[in-house]
Amino acid sequence: MRPYDAEIAKGESFVTLTCPHCGNDRNFQVKTLQMHVVNLENGRVEVSEEDRPTVLEVLCDECETALNFEEFEETLRKEVLLTIGAR
Ligand SMILES: [Zn+2]
Repeated sequence: MRPYDAEIAKGESFVTLTCPHCGNDRNFQVKTLQMHVVNLENGRVEVSEEDRPTVLEVLCDECETALNFEEFEETLRKEVLLTIGAR
C-alpha cells in the first residue's frame, strides 16, 4: 500500500492527500527554504541572486504530523511546487 494517495482524474489533474494520523485531507503546512544573496551598494541593500524556494517540510495542519514530501505522488508534488512557486 502506498503511504499517500494521489490520483489523476481523466484529463485534468486531481490530487488527494490524506494525513495518515488524523485523516485530515484539506490543510497542510508547507515549509520552504529560500536563499538570497544580498550586497551592499552605496549604502543600500540589493539582492544580486535569488533562489527559488525549495520544500523543507510538509506538516499536517491539524495534528502536525510530518509527511514525507519525497514520497508524494509525482503529480501531487508538481502541483504543490507549482502552487507555491518553488521547484
Ligand atoms: Zn493529521
